Amino acid sequence: MLKIAWAESYVLPLPLNHRFPMSKYEVLPQQLLHEGTIEWSNIFSPDPLDEKWILLTHEAAYWNRLKSLALSPQESRRTGFPLSRKLIDREVTIMNGTLQCVRYALQYGVAMNIAGGTHHAFTNKGEGFCLLNDIAIAANYLLHEKLAHQILVIDLDVHQGNGTAQIFKDETRVFTFSMHGKNNYPLIKETSDLDIGLIDFTEDSFYLNTLENNLSTLLDQVQPDFIFFQCGVDILKTDKLGRLSISREGCKQRDRMVLETAKRNKIPLVASMGGGYSEDFRDIIEAHANTYRLAQEIFF
Ligand SMILES: [Zn+2]
Repeated sequence: MLKIAWAESYVLPLPLNHRFPMSKYEVLPQQLLHEGTIEWSNIFSPDPLDEKWILLTHEAAYWNRLKSLALSPQESRRTGFPLSRKLIDREVTIMNGTLQCVRYALQYGVAMNIAGGTHHAFTNKGEGFCLLNDIAIAANYLLHEKLAHQILVIDLDVHQGNGTAQIFKDETRVFTFSMHGKNNYPLIKETSDLDIGLIDFTEDSFYLNTLENNLSTLLDQVQPDFIFFQCGVDILKTDKLGRLSISREGCKQRDRMVLETAKRNKIPLVASMGGGYSEDFRDIIEAHANTYRLAQEIFF
């Protein structure tokens, strides 16, 4: 059964005209339910995560400042959000969503969070709409609990997974792969285990060929027993922030490639949703919905 993490607290009212597309966290589950891709029984609502798992990944000093709403104005500004108790609760609930997905993925082969992919969160700071790093927290949980030995992070958001790269730069059991827009934020990139920076206006065929070649090499090289997939849809050509030119169909083929690879090789996979900032809201919802539709089609 496809288990999907989602909670009401994922949807947090923001100031009018805020750049962050908060409504997608409300509309996407509604769309998937409405069209019959999922039933309510597919959805589970996580509680806020116990901080002991946060502290396996993030520096205590940073976490303490964050949870007591004591970030400096500059630190707060870098996150892109107005800091509030509800924002922290939202983030910590999303963190547990990804962490709980791990258990479901081990059971069913795949599990997905309707949020997360907060890959710009470092051990000691947040930026770019990311306060804590859900993939890193869940990966460290897996290692700590000895549920996996070699983890592959496939980060296909248009922005580099700089936080994830920094967190795992000395951790050989987690291989970080980021394929992103070379000229997209962050301007100063961290070093992942494998970075592929794509030039502006990269189109479907080059994108998909590059991914296919690298995926098969990586599976041989890394021999992962667990995969995290950051499936941001800001690679779309309609995206306001992204600089690539991928079609909705190309984005869907990307997801199919990753999900089929995991299924074929019997490697459990957790998907975190990542970014999506298209001008046309339907593009965001459709592209994200495709990831969940494909998971149902391929795994169940
Ligand atoms: Zn992004």
